[in-house]
Amino acid sequence: MTDFATRLVQFDASPNDRYRPSSSPIYQTSTFRLPGPLDYTRSGNPTRSLLETQLARLEGGACGLAFSSGMAAITAVCDLLASGDGLLASEDLYGGSHRLLSQLLTRRGVTVDFVDTSDLEAVAALLGEHHRLVLVETPSNPFQRISDLAALANLAHDVNAWLAVDNSFLSPYLQNPLALGADLVIQSGTKFLCGHSNVTAGGVVSRTAELGEKLAFIQNAIGNGLSPFESWLLLDGMKTLALRLDRQQESARWLASWLQRQPAVRRVYYPDLPEHPGRELHRRQARGSGAVISFELDSAARAQGVLDRTRRFACTVSFGAVHSSLEQPALMSHASVPEEASIRRLLTPRLLRMSVGIESLADLQEDLTRALRA
Ligand SMILES: *Cc1c(COP(=O)(O)O)cnc(C)c1O
Repeated sequence: MTDFATRLVQFDASPNDRYRPSSSPIYQTSTFRLPGPLDYTRSGNPTRSLLETQLARLEGGACGLAFSSGMAAITAVCDLLASGDGLLASEDLYGGSHRLLSQLLTRRGVTVDFVDTSDLEAVAALLGEHHRLVLVETPSNPFQRISDLAALANLAHDVNAWLAVDNSFLSPYLQNPLALGADLVIQSGTKFLCGHSNVTAGGVVSRTAELGEKLAFIQNAIGNGLSPFESWLLLDGMKTLALRLDRQQESARWLASWLQRQPAVRRVYYPDLPEHPGRELHRRQARGSGAVISFELDSAARAQGVLDRTRRFACTVSFGAVHSSLEQPALMSHASVPEEASIRRLLTPRLLRMSVGIESLADLQEDLTRALRA
């Protein structure tokens, strides 16, 4: 197979188009004349199909599907479950995923267990025959815990459950969970895939065509497929994924070890650091640590001060864009984690999460030096 960076830009952008454009046409239509191969955009649209084929190709799966958001993608995966089924999820999960599982899915009679999935013994002790789905983030968000995907796939398959991995943190460029035994990979396309803060989108890729068919049925039945225009924007943004992430990751690695040496910084969470307990495991299952760093300051006031004083890091939720950003998980990205959740007590206002963009590293470092000053 061709290299990832080549696959990103070399694909047939316009199948069956007699003008042979280099960029894909946007099929901005809700209906198609019958008889013909397509009837209605909710059920299928050529621009979305192109994106879906590309997603599957990049993840190495049988079937790709594009949704109106990362949450819509996760919802579609959860719709594989019925009342009485169980779901086991990483406790350190994106705030919105936590809210969806604990407050909506449980209403439908699905039982949800949260556990530290980097602890295989804890997972094995909890997994039972009623579990149909294991949902994992690795590195987790925001504490960057590393879960052993191959081992989790075995544990899940032992009880006939599917393993789904939310791969938004690394993107298919840096980690391919299907190759490690996962059944489904989920992406928030809003993050690294898009990279430009101009699309809200989600993706799911399945290892087997059979599971893909189940999800395509759900996508059509619910009507949460991505629109043609957004599909086109995402497809376009994805072309520079490797280029962007190489640069972002290089700066992030440098900043992570630099942050560690700053007196006001108590702790840095980034899997590339030698002290990280999951470093070796992460190196075995991924090709890099990405461009998101979480770090704890010596006080909440300091964290607030950094947010107030920075000029180069936009205070926004989300991550993965070409521009750098900084946020406070406890009050922003993870505000929706319920009070009673086990992970809540770790989400202090001293914690910041940084997404490193493609700006000059010197400018970023200079800005942080100033912002960290009391
Ligand atoms: C942002 C995010 C989501 C949700 O994606 P949206 O596109 O915002 O709906 C899911 N999982 C992770 C890890 C995320 O960072």
